Amino acid sequence: MDNPCEYCNSKCCKYYTVALTREDILRVLKIKKGFEWIQVIEANGIETQFSHGFFIFDQGKMKECFLALNRKRSEKCIFLENNKCSIYEYRPMACRLYPFELGVKGVEYKKKHRCPIGWNIDDIKKDFLENNEIAKKEIEEHEKKVREWNSKINEKKTIKEFIEFLIEE
Ligand code: SF4
Ligand code: SF4
Repeated sequence: MDNPCEYCNSKCCKYYTVALTREDILRVLKIKKGFEWIQVIEANGIETQFSHGFFIFDQGKMKECFLALNRKRSEKCIFLENNKCSIYEYRPMACRLYPFELGVKGVEYKKKHRCPIGWNIDDIKKDFLENNEIAKKEIEEHEKKVREWNSKINEKKTIKEFIEFLIEE
């Protein structure tokens, strides 16, 4: 079956902030050096399924933040090139699961989504369920590390130190 994403010019990659877990970062680091592709976003009450908020001090004030894929000035995901994902095999879990979620009746479209394609749920169900299980474990691992960091936070810690702590074995 053709991949419907080929026909929609990757609309989702142009609109959403993609929150990152520890495992998402480790996957992308297999093919990208440095951390420039990561941005830090102040949580300000935003809750994401994929990135538990970590604490950091900024000019003496403690803030809750999460990590996300950086975006180009045009607001597209930094990895979107010619309307295609340039890191497809290594893309974050949030990208793999979009535009579906596990509802009470099984796999269904997210309540609010911008995907213009009418997917056949039976075609994606198996992959979605497998990825959803992996995502749950990765989110748990991520949250464990973030809780450990938050319990030891002090004013001297930097964002770079947080990312290094997050990805260390
Ligand atoms: S998931 Fe939907 S919006 Fe995103 S690239 Fe595929 S078809 Fe387009
Ligand atoms: S990582 Fe790939 S799939 Fe995910 S938003 Fe960026 S371009 Fe799209």
